[in-house]
Formats: sequence, structure tokens, C-alpha cells
Amino acid sequence: MEELLEQLLEECRPFTREGKVASYIPELAKSDPAGLGICVQCSDGRHYQAGDAEKRFTIQSVVKPMLLLLALMDNGEEYVRSRVGVEATGKPFDAINMTDQTLLSDHLNPMVNMGAIAMCSLIRGESYEHRYQRLLELVRTLAGDPDIALDEAVYQSERRTGSKNRALAYLLQTYGMLEDDVEQVLDCYFKCCSISVNSRDLARIGFTLANRGKPAQSDQRLFPGRYAHYVNAVLMTCGMYDGSGDFAVNVGVPAKSGVGGGIMAVVPTKMGIGIYSPALDQKGNSLAGIQVLTRLSQRLYLSIF
Ligand code: GLU
Repeated sequence: MEELLEQLLEECRPFTREGKVASYIPELAKSDPAGLGICVQCSDGRHYQAGDAEKRFTIQSVVKPMLLLLALMDNGEEYVRSRVGVEATGKPFDAINMTDQTLLSDHLNPMVNMGAIAMCSLIRGESYEHRYQRLLELVRTLAGDPDIALDEAVYQSERRTGSKNRALAYLLQTYGMLEDDVEQVLDCYFKCCSISVNSRDLARIGFTLANRGKPAQSDQRLFPGRYAHYVNAVLMTCGMYDGSGDFAVNVGVPAKSGVGGGIMAVVPTKMGIGIYSPALDQKGNSLAGIQVLTRLSQRLYLSIF
């Protein structure tokens, strides 16, 4: 397996030159566009990696499935579904989904920014700092990595430049979908996006979703299997932004990307895959990362379709 991963990275390395690192968050512009790494966590407990698999980067939107998971664990499925919808948006991650005079909870999707900001308000905690700490703890537990921490520079950079996310949050407030202090909710959202992980962490977290709540490192179920089913279904239809349809056709597994260059892919019952490659395509997905996953899926027959 390690040999196959090395070979795929070599084949796909030229694609890193075709993408661009995100620059709308100034700190992310410092990423090395040539970075490329992969880790695969298998059901026999072993993991395989190649390239920059240990390199840390900010999780960005790959945190959204964990926000959804924690919201489900705190409130149950019915309540979460009543507050945030599940229909694919077919729109960019930061789209303002206003087509007419109303905005309803059914218009929100937890895998794009507006839905994710709304989900921060569903997580339990005495303060928004406490809610963030609980989310961080969940990420550490799922990844089996107690060293996962905040990237302070990226967090400050996002906070300073997050006008579009502010607009989305205030819009939620206008339509009665955000009752708490908007700046505190946003602060929690920015911190969640600025958690620093590596490809191995994403592979392990993806594996718990593939294995209906049980991590590779223990037999203890960390969340109900039904919630893995819920999260994976939403990932399948909306995890790769407005590139989710193409990704379903070409790779065929639930996955989530982030503008930090990460992709977490979930191969139900079989494996979790973590990718790092910060040069992005026009839709904000890791360009070489998608190429690697397309080839890996073809070679190992991973598509669920
Ligand atoms: N923190 C980023 C933002 O809100 C996340 C975007 C992404 O990774 O899709 O703009």
C-alpha cells in the first residue's frame, strides 16, 4: 500500500502547479503550493502514509462534519434537522443563499459556511469559548491525537478579514436563526476552522465515520452509528462544495475539503483517508488532492456506487 501511495503522489505532483493557495485569509497565502501528503487508515488497525503526511495545516471546512457530529450528539437528530437542512446547495462555500425575501432553516446546509455558523449555536457550552473547547476535544479524541491545537496566527488572520462570514451570520440573525451574540458565535466558528491537524489525523477521523463511530485505536464506540450515517450522507451530497457532483462521479465516497488544502474521505466500513495539498482549484478544493483520490479510488475500487 505504501508503494502505491508513493506512486500516486509522484503521478499527481505536477497538478500542484495548476492550483493556487487560498489568499482571502492572508495567513493561508503563506502555505507552500508544492505540499502533498496522504495517509490511509485501514480497518485492520494499520495506517499507511506518503509525502507530507505529518505536515500540520489548518482544518478549515473539514471541521464542519465534526461540528455536525457534536450538534447531533448534544441535541439528537430531530432537533438538528429542524434547525439546519440537508439539501445540497450546489453553490460555493461562502454563498449567500438568498433567492427571495425569506431564508428558512431548510435552506442551510451544514457543510457550507452559513449552516456551519448556525451549528456553532447548537453546540452545548456555558460560553462560546467552552463550546469551542468541547469541539477541539472531540477532534482530538476522534483523531487519537492530544497534541491537536489552535493555529493562533490563522485564527487572528481569519478574525480580522472575515467580513463575508460576518455578513452570513448577521443574515442568520435577521431571519431569527441566530439568537446569541453574533461576534461570539463567529469567534467560535473562526477558532474551529483554525485547528491545526495533519493528514494522519484526518485519516483517523474519517475512519471513525467509516466505522460507524468506532476508532481504529480502540473498540469503544465514540458516537452512535446512526450519526455517522447522517454525516456521511451530507458529505456525499455537499462535502466538496459545488464540486460534489463531479467528485461523486469520479471518486464516489463521502468527503470534505477545506481551503487549507485538506480533504478527509470516508470509505464506509473500509478506510479513512487524509490528504494535504494546499494548491486549490477554482471551487476551493485541493486540486492535486482530488487527482490522488480519483486514482486511488480507481485502483482499489473504492466507489460506493
Ligand atoms: N474558515 C474558512 C471560511 O470561513 C473555511 C472555508 C472553507 O474551508 O471552505 O472562509
